[in-house]
Parts: sequence; C-alpha cells; structure tokens
Amino acid sequence: MQISITKAEKLKPKPDDADLTFGTIFTDHMFNMDYDPENKWHNPRIEPYAPIAMDPSTMVLHYGQAVFEGLKAYRTESGAIQLFRPKDNFKRLNRSSRALCIPEIDEASVLDALKQLLNLETDWIPHAPETSLYIRPTIISMDPYLGVRASYMYRFFIILSPVGVYYSEGFNPIKIWVTKDHVRAVRGGMGEAKTPGNYAASLYAGEKAKKIGYTQVLWLDGVEQKYVEEVGSMNIFFVIDNEIISPELNGSILPGLTRDSVIQLAKYWNMKISERKISIDDVFNAHEAGKLQEIFGSGTAAVISPVGELKYNDNVIRIGNGKVGPIAHKFFKTITDIQFGKAEDPLRWIERI
Ligand SMILES: *Cc1c(COP(=O)(O)O)cnc(C)c1O
Repeated sequence: MQISITKAEKLKPKPDDADLTFGTIFTDHMFNMDYDPENKWHNPRIEPYAPIAMDPSTMVLHYGQAVFEGLKAYRTESGAIQLFRPKDNFKRLNRSSRALCIPEIDEASVLDALKQLLNLETDWIPHAPETSLYIRPTIISMDPYLGVRASYMYRFFIILSPVGVYYSEGFNPIKIWVTKDHVRAVRGGMGEAKTPGNYAASLYAGEKAKKIGYTQVLWLDGVEQKYVEEVGSMNIFFVIDNEIISPELNGSILPGLTRDSVIQLAKYWNMKISERKISIDDVFNAHEAGKLQEIFGSGTAAVISPVGELKYNDNVIRIGNGKVGPIAHKFFKTITDIQFGKAEDPLRWIERI
C-alpha cells in the first residue's frame, strides 16, 4: 500500500510526561483512508490531525454504524518502540466490521500504515515509566443519507494520544455495582463487536453507579440476568478456591485481548483456569463460603483492575481487605513488563516497529 504523507507545518508543543492523563491530547498527524464501492479502500494518507468535515446527514451520526479499536505503543528502556498483539486488534476490527456490515480492511496494510504513522510521531511516545501512546483506529459510515441501510462510503482513521500512568494514585481496588435493572447486550446482538452503541447503552447505568458511589457496572447476561458478563470496558475474572474463572465468550461479551493474554499466561504457568458460565449467585455464595479470593478486570487501558467491592441489590461484599490480590498483581506485573520490554515474551506478543 502506497501511503502519501503530508507533514504538519507547525508542530504542537508536547506535554510533560507528568501531566498526562487519558484521551485529551492528540498528536500532530493522523492516518486516513476512504472506501466507496467502486474504488474499495483507497487514498491511504498520513496528514495533519484535523477535524473531519461531514454533512449533518452523515449516516454515522444517525445510525451509529461504526467500529473502533484500542491499543498502545510502548517505549522500552533501551528506546525501542513496540506494540502488543497489534495483529489481533486489526483482526478483531474486521470481526466487528462484519457484525456491522462495514467492508473489511487489509489487516497487514493497515498495520504497516500504523507503523509509518508511529515512525513519524515517535517523539510523542512518552518516556516516563508506565506511560504510553494510545492508538485509536476507527471506521465510520459516511453516506450523507437519512434512511436505515448499510452505508456505501466509509472513512477509516487512526489517531494517537499520549497517556499517563493509569494508577497514578497507586494500584487501588475499584468498587463495582452489579445491575439487574439494565442490560448492555443480548445474545445475537452487538455485544461482541467493538462499536460505539455498546458504550451508549452503558451510560445510563454507569451514571447511576457513580451516584451511589461505585466506579463501574458489572453487567449480567441480557436474557436471564443471572450470569456474569463483563464490566463496561473490561472483561472480568474471579479467583475461587484457586481456580481462575472468566465468563465464556457467548456472543454478548467483548473478546478482550488482555483477557486472552491472562488466559494464555495462566495456561503457560499451569494455573487452573476456566472459561465458563458463572452466575452472580455463585460469586456471592463463594464469598459466603470464604472461597472467593480475588476479582479483577482486564483491558488495554488499565491492563488489570483489582475489584475491592461488589454491590448486588442490598448485598455488599468486600474482597481482599482493600488490597490487591497476588494473582491480579502477578498478571499486571507480567503483562506490563512484557509490554515495556522488561521481561521475556514467551508467547510472542510483541511487535517492534
Ligand atoms: C475493548 C473492550 C474490552 C477490553 O478489550 P482489550 O482488548 O483487553 O482492551 C472489554 N470490554 C469492552 C466492552 C470493550 O470495548
């Protein structure tokens, strides 16, 4: 794929690593590519980061036909730049696209485009420990048309955002509300696709959780509201009686790459790991029996998020006395050490640029 490059005339000032948060600052350049039925994906280009001009009738604004990905570029101590399982992100992007009738991209070409963009933006990859450059590939439907059908035209873009230390106040367990009043996704629906609608569907319950002092929502299955699915933007793990359990991928759970990395590592270490249905009652019963050792979430942004408290109806349980469990810590440390090039990469997840 021949990519044209237009450089920004003036570069933005770069923030101090210590001031970085998440998702507020964007680099000087972005990657763009367009689709129409005749030319397919065409005009791949790196150009200055800029607003996308669109007609108010543009379909994505009305019908939400869009997919996205999230991954990071890491700077190692020796100055190398590396990605964590990027091929799997583009594979998942295509899976999400199929679910939303969006034309697939060529995974290898787009990974190459990302590498070229990163080469141009290397100075934006922060240096401080545990900081990184967040990468957001996105596809949106572009037809100026009101009426429900799949769009004919699309825009693919990649933007980059330097992000700070996720646990700047320490690796503290979060509090989660298990809701029975709302559902995020149902079998046969969109749950396993990374699409904005799933997030729109989660906002109302998320606000309710915050009002009662909880950070995030744990979703139950949309049919019986009995089985645990996932947290808003994280998959979930339970450690019960030395068995690590994550809900099996059932079509309404997003197949997280961090989730898969935890499972692969657990198998590599010969730990007892299961992907299966687990009901919320099982979790509370295990706690009652003194067998619930740890709960943690997994996702690209935080990597591992220990859960210190669960609220379900009027029952509140505390896990691990406000401390991070050894298993959550072991996965966090190993995965981040691999990402930052501080540990061996036994499962070959790293791709250098
Ligand atoms: C992205 C995402 C995750 C986590 O996936 P990772 O690949 O581990 O970052 C989990 N749940 C939802 C709904 C997501 O969108």
